[in-house]
Amino acid sequence: MSLTDLESYELLHAPSLAALVALVADRHASGLHTVLLAGGTDWLVEQESRPPLPSGVEHPVVLDVSRMPELRALEVVSGEGGDRLRVGAAVTYLELRRSAVVGERAPLLARMAADVGALQIQARGTIGGNLATASPAADGVAALAALDADVLVESVRGRRTIPFSALQTGYKTSTRAPDEVLVAVEIALPSRGAPFVWRKVAARRAQAISKVALAGVAEVEDGRVTRFGVGMASVAPVTARLPTVRALALSRPIAEIDAASVDRAVEADVSPIDDVRSTRDYRLHCAKALVRAWLRQLGARG
Ligand SMILES: Cc1cc2nc3c(=O)[nH]c(=O)nc-3n(C[C@H](O)[C@H](O)[C@H](O)COP(=O)(O)OP(=O)(O)OC[C@H]3O[C@@H](n4cnc5c(N)ncnc54)[C@H](O)[C@@H]3O)c2cc1C
Repeated sequence: MSLTDLESYELLHAPSLAALVALVADRHASGLHTVLLAGGTDWLVEQESRPPLPSGVEHPVVLDVSRMPELRALEVVSGEGGDRLRVGAAVTYLELRRSAVVGERAPLLARMAADVGALQIQARGTIGGNLATASPAADGVAALAALDADVLVESVRGRRTIPFSALQTGYKTSTRAPDEVLVAVEIALPSRGAPFVWRKVAARRAQAISKVALAGVAEVEDGRVTRFGVGMASVAPVTARLPTVRALALSRPIAEIDAASVDRAVEADVSPIDDVRSTRDYRLHCAKALVRAWLRQLGARG
């Protein structure tokens, strides 16, 4: 189809999240697909390149979720384990960039958001859309992996929380059921001033998908890393959480972590491929260099 065919789609607005999940569940039970449209920056592009629907096949119903209040939270919530930042699924990159609380308490998200597409994409694209598309190149998802985010989803069966580590099952597949709507992500707030890293290697800064991107957040005490989260884009079929690198960083004082051990840990954790954006070898080279630099940055803090 082309974008001019869009008028043949029905665009609906659900009056509430409860109504939305009920409609999605009803249609899913009847084998019908429902599109949740947030910023449209992934979905509309996909429509341009997909083949026309076979005759007789109904267009999916498109539900605009971009203004649904339940998906628009951007606030600090207090929980048992301390303060947490809740970011609604329909929060845009521009809102992340402009939020004072994000800038102060989770600057990794603000830095990442500043590197997504250009201003037009940042104004429309949402964190929920990035998560739902589930591309291994997704920048927002890499940051959420580093922050060990919890993903809140809702369906007619109720609301549940999926820890990021239990979300992704393979290339663009996840443990979220087809009738579960992404509501928000929650992250345990790092301490004020906690070191973080956001490095995106791409053909250009704006409008380019990452060849490799590294997101990281850490806490350092007396030369040892006490919290270490990383997420890496475009080096595996899913966003890479680098478990071997995480274990290494926490295992000994930073000064005792040598470059060769870091390289071996990165090699154990990633499986990059050659594709139109880059090569396996260059991605592996970047992945190692970025993690080494991140650990050096932490070591320099003492
Ligand atoms: C020019 C351009 C540049 C880009 N640059 C980057 C970049 O630098 N980095 C990057 O990571 N991405 C980039 N993207 C991809 C895209 O902008 C992001 O993935 C964005 O976060 C998608 O969000 P959206 O709200 O537009 O999603 P939409 O297109 O509205 O939706 C995407 C998918 O998510 C589903 N969805 C949306 N909201 C929900 C929800 N609440 N619950 C369940 N499912 C939902 C939709 O049904 C759809 O399947 C770029 C895209 C373009 C066109």
